[in-house]
Amino acid sequence: MNVSVVGSGYVGTTLAACLADLGHDVTAVDIDEETVERLNAGETTIHEPGLDPMVSAYAGSSLKATTDHAAVADTDLTFLAVGTPAREDGSIDPSGLLAAAEDVGEAVADKDGYHLVVVKSTVLPDVIDEEVIPTLEDASGKTDGDDLGVAVNPEFLREGSAVDDFMNPDKIVIGTDGDGRALDRLAELYQPLISDWDVPSVETGRREAAMIKYANNTFLAAKVSLINDLGNICKELGVDTYEVAEAIGMDDRIGEKFLNSGVGWGGSCFPKDTAAIKSAAEDADYDPAMVEAAIEVNDVQPQRLLGLMDEHVDVDGKRVAVLGLAFKPGTDDIRGSRAKPVIEGLQDRGGNVVAYDPLAVEKMAEEFPDIEYADSAAEALDGAHAAAAVTDWPAFAELNEEFDAMAEKVVVDGRRIISRREGLTYEGLTW
Ligand code: NAD
Repeated sequence: MNVSVVGSGYVGTTLAACLADLGHDVTAVDIDEETVERLNAGETTIHEPGLDPMVSAYAGSSLKATTDHAAVADTDLTFLAVGTPAREDGSIDPSGLLAAAEDVGEAVADKDGYHLVVVKSTVLPDVIDEEVIPTLEDASGKTDGDDLGVAVNPEFLREGSAVDDFMNPDKIVIGTDGDGRALDRLAELYQPLISDWDVPSVETGRREAAMIKYANNTFLAAKVSLINDLGNICKELGVDTYEVAEAIGMDDRIGEKFLNSGVGWGGSCFPKDTAAIKSAAEDADYDPAMVEAAIEVNDVQPQRLLGLMDEHVDVDGKRVAVLGLAFKPGTDDIRGSRAKPVIEGLQDRGGNVVAYDPLAVEKMAEEFPDIEYADSAAEALDGAHAAAAVTDWPAFAELNEEFDAMAEKVVVDGRRIISRREGLTYEGLTW
């Protein structure tokens, strides 16, 4: 098929490259010229394992990029994969998505017959009905369900394993409100995944499809917050949460995944999506007690880590190492990273922060230009009076004699990634 993907961030680029790999012709559209130039040169502006080889294999042939939204008119369907960031009050800011919808609508205004627009971005049901569809209709002069199709097809990939997740999803959710043409096109598009690889597809309404994404993320965020809450209790009681989690994970009803207790969740999705669903609930006069608790526990975890450090060192005026800045290993994304409240807390205490991350230093330096950045974990630890492990990069598990160079060998581990060793004052956050 001939597909256009508007928005070339983590989701859009992965989608575009994977669809090209599935045999489709893909046009990627982004407003950022550098992103477009890099894609056409076979490169990406983001780090995602396996993505660059795909982009370089298809760039210039079945994958082309442009800043001109008009290009979508020549395609069979258009994905909207633009960012939907959170506003101060937690509600989502759909302005980028609506600007993209307007450009796409204008681009297909003169197209004969039906054009399908598929919303990939994470948005609340009302945003689809009250903002995206009217914007598309106004700009195109077409009518939803007639010569305009609008489907909702949320994305469940995880950064750090985006390509793998896209190609091997647990499910494909397609919300069409019964528009058979939309369903047929998406079934054809995903045919290699659905028919050949037996991925279950969920055919549902557009509002339900939008809500499934929020429910999915809120459930996962709450699961981690619950094990973190239990972890804090375990720590107070002198119990190793990981031994507890391993056993409870054997219960099928609980499941073993997402039970790694620690400094909490971050990223571009969990914080934004839980805030959005909380905000939507409150707008509907419902008090979302569980969602609120999940967010509250997540905010507490970095403070617990700092509190444990306080028990051993007064960091005022002292060098403190922060190991890990990305919100999770395998990515350079620092959105929602727990390293941020940890750095802020150390700065509030007068600490001189020296931070290290294998991929995310450049991005964190844009937000925290005043701290020192090291080229290696060893350099960060050298002369430090304390260290906080915030991201579980596998290489941190190998650190050993690097701790010998610390001025005071105090390590607070927020991810159970540092190996305990003699001479190290080691505090596990929840163990
Ligand atoms: P991102 O910020 O990485 O990328 C968004 C891209 O859209 C940017 O390259 C930006 O330049 C471009 N853009 C903005 N306005 C545009 C316009 N009018 N026309 C064309 N391009 C435009 O965002 P992301 O992380 O890829 O997320 C995209 C959506 O997918 C969000 O709604 C997000 O919640 C959702 N999502 C993200 C993930 C994830 O892990 N990142 C997973 C599932 C769903």
